[in-house]
Amino acid sequence: AAMRKARIKRTKTVCTYCGVGCSFEVWTKDRKILKIEPQEHAPVNGISTCVKGKWGWDYVNSEERLTKPLIRKGNEFVEATWDEALKLIASKLSGIKEQYGPDSIGYIASSKCSNEENFLFQKFARAIMGTNNVDNCSRYCQSPATAALLRTVGIGGDSGTIRDIEKSELIIVIGANPAESHPVLATRIKRAHKLHGQKLIVADLRENELAQRANLFIHPKPSTDLIWISAVTKYILDQGWEDKEFLKNRVNGLDEYIQSLNKYTLDYAEKATGLSKDDMIQVATMLHKSKTACILWAMGVTQHKGATDTSTAIANLLLITGNFGRPGTGAYPLRGHNNVQGACDFGTMPAWLPGYEPIQDDKVRKRYEEAWGVTLPKDPGLDNHQMLEGVKEGKLKALYLFGEEMALVDSNVNFVDSMLEKLEFFVVQDVFFSKTAQFADVVLPASPSLEKDGTFVNTERRIQRFYKVFEPLGDSKPDWMIFQELANLLGANWNYQHPSEIMDEAASLATYFAGVSYERLEGFNSQIWPVKKDGTDSPLLYEKRFVFPDGKARLVPVDWTPPFEAGEEYDLHLNNGRLLEHFHEGNMTYRSEGLTHKVPHPWLEISPELAKERGVEDGSLVRLTSPYGQVKVRAIVTDRVAGKELYLTMNTREDVEAVNRLTSSYHDLITHTPNYKEMGVKMEVLEQK
Ligand code: SF4
Repeated sequence: AAMRKARIKRTKTVCTYCGVGCSFEVWTKDRKILKIEPQEHAPVNGISTCVKGKWGWDYVNSEERLTKPLIRKGNEFVEATWDEALKLIASKLSGIKEQYGPDSIGYIASSKCSNEENFLFQKFARAIMGTNNVDNCSRYCQSPATAALLRTVGIGGDSGTIRDIEKSELIIVIGANPAESHPVLATRIKRAHKLHGQKLIVADLRENELAQRANLFIHPKPSTDLIWISAVTKYILDQGWEDKEFLKNRVNGLDEYIQSLNKYTLDYAEKATGLSKDDMIQVATMLHKSKTACILWAMGVTQHKGATDTSTAIANLLLITGNFGRPGTGAYPLRGHNNVQGACDFGTMPAWLPGYEPIQDDKVRKRYEEAWGVTLPKDPGLDNHQMLEGVKEGKLKALYLFGEEMALVDSNVNFVDSMLEKLEFFVVQDVFFSKTAQFADVVLPASPSLEKDGTFVNTERRIQRFYKVFEPLGDSKPDWMIFQELANLLGANWNYQHPSEIMDEAASLATYFAGVSYERLEGFNSQIWPVKKDGTDSPLLYEKRFVFPDGKARLVPVDWTPPFEAGEEYDLHLNNGRLLEHFHEGNMTYRSEGLTHKVPHPWLEISPELAKERGVEDGSLVRLTSPYGQVKVRAIVTDRVAGKELYLTMNTREDVEAVNRLTSSYHDLITHTPNYKEMGVKMEVLEQK
């Protein structure tokens, strides 16, 4: 028995299923995963995990893993050596760059992969290929929140830690479903609410689990959050309940902001949002009575045409009530993917170098140019949305994408498919032969987190290490190694031996990561950026200053943008969101036996009143049609949703029609995040159970 035990290896890893960033030990014997064991000293979760963190790892040993590079020959893919595949990519990319210019190629990074890999990928795009056309999938989710916080308080991340949320007297959750999307964080809220009398307000279209527990659940009409938030803010100002000291000493733009609120009276808001005046007054009163309040929000806010402005209204409300800079206060946009924060932080964004330093700033660019010995392109590049528009216009000829299932998770995938088909050259690098890979010319086999070293950043800006458990399966390789080999084929001389050296380079260049190092992150240690050179990190932001030259925050006037309307015949509103048991496109979780066993496929939620009207029962097969496409799905009848609002779980399977067959290409006007949550559909019943 002792010998058997000796062969059991315990390795620290970080969960890859959401932005909470739980860490734990994974116990393995050879390639078998024996168990996931949480540790008391894990900084975020301690001894908790959710079902995904605990049971979602089978995919690593799935027989469907890509183990060899593939090259398209006509309609077939044939196995190739790394040498053949990389040489083909190098020659195609340099040919296209030569013929059409560096901006004819786009680079889409992965918020599932490490900081080091994202850092290297943007370096590859910028320094080797000469373009800022580099983006990641935060474009599909939280870019509006990042943009809103950058313009109001200065840092595009959560204001404090997850543990700080527990200290708050009042939590307001808007358009988010933490109990399923950020389960361990939700556990903390549930505990604080139940045991410590923390007050909870939930605003959502759907009565999700936290809504059922809330002191106040409000259900505004779809796409009207900015209106009720502004009305609550105006009411607070009208009552004289604003934090006058805080506003005087720490905030700019109050007068102009007050003017901008004129139209947001309770009367107007009641008509526009369907909420009662009493409910809005209650929100304002609860805020007034709480010494500390924080606001959590997610895709229910950010996936709309006016998303950056709604996120800005949230930051404005927090500023008016003085809720920044103390534990238990602040703005918490909840990051979806495990490393969506890190992918942005480490520079896979068209306008920013790592640490949100603008590419257009000559001083910043010079720092990188000197370190890398190149001239960098100055103008911001294309984001994901603009890249596809670029394909349509014939300007963008090639795409290189890693760790991202664009053909399922982007909106209006019928359009996406046709654009991917139109590309002259397309490289997909992933763990599985994804749906997106079907459009590729070369498919490269990558290794998942358990087969490499690296770091992720969770939603609270916490940088954590994960360690290699297994050797890469077959010929698959860590993404950073692939970028390095390709860069060297294209004339670079990169010689990174380990991801720690990539992090050292990022730390030497990006101000926010100055004191980040693998030694300081050893084991379960972590650092929350900004990190000073001496290693001091920043769990709580804005204690003394906001991140602008004069140290003051900015109230930014915003106005409501009416949502996109599909047309009268599309008489139902379709909302969508995550399931506890599954992750996004399901490439990983549907390949994990325990999770698939528990929840084998997506479903549509329909209200009892609508079900009665349309003759739908539990298990009926229905077809939903939008102006963009159709899906067939089984329905369940539940009072979690009301009236003509439907809810479709977005965790689709490759073999089940994707929700994004229905969504449009419309997007947030500022950041181009698709408006997934503004969807008119019609429904027909195809078959009773
Ligand atoms: Fe993983 Fe998120 Fe669950 Fe934690 S809460 S185990 S990070 S999916």
